[in-house]
Amino acid sequence: AYRLAFVDELTGLGGRRALNEKLLTLGERYTIAMVDVDHFKHVNDDHGHDTGDQVLRMIAAHLSRAGGGGKAYRYGGEEFAVVFPGKSVRECVPHLEVLRTVVEEYRMQLRAEDRPQEREEGRARRGHGARSGILKVTISIGVAERDGRHQDPDHVLRLADQALYRAKNRGRNRLSR
Ligand code: GH3
Ligand code: MG
Ligand code: MG
Repeated sequence: AYRLAFVDELTGLGGRRALNEKLLTLGERYTIAMVDVDHFKHVNDDHGHDTGDQVLRMIAAHLSRAGGGGKAYRYGGEEFAVVFPGKSVRECVPHLEVLRTVVEEYRMQLRAEDRPQEREEGRARRGHGARSGILKVTISIGVAERDGRHQDPDHVLRLADQALYRAKNRGRNRLSR
């Protein structure tokens, strides 16, 4: 029952309820990052929902190895949260930039059965550079910290979400605070 309620089945990360529990335990200093996959709808449209799921698992695996004591959760859909207890935004940014870069540089190998368009076009074009079979994705990150004015974790999370929105507007594949 615990696993069903708290662990996200697809990624193995804590889900929204686990995040909410975590937010209750935070002290006087912490940072929250909101992470969103860029143009994820295109991934699903171009490569299918199963490949989309594979991308989410790949990103979750990277986020789960966040440095700086960051703990990753699946917030919902293609959005994740990373919580850094005891850390300021300034301290977290280098760890988050590592995550952003690792995802940016990751080359996901698509299996032939995940390349429906190629299947339709036939085998002839394979190996001629028509479709590389490599999928690249990027993430945008918004980050905010608890301070004197913003003490409620829900409020800090909303600020991180607003920062994420700025990261998207500034061109994606970047971090905003
Ligand atoms: P942006 O860069 O602005 O974030 O664009 P986007 O396409 O990533 O954002 P949008 O909100 O338009 O699309 C999100 C997509 O994520 C739509 C939805 O079908 C897909 N999605 C949400 N949850 C899952 C999931 O569990 N698996 C898969 N494969 N897709 C999902
Ligand atoms: Mg989104
Ligand atoms: Mg997105």
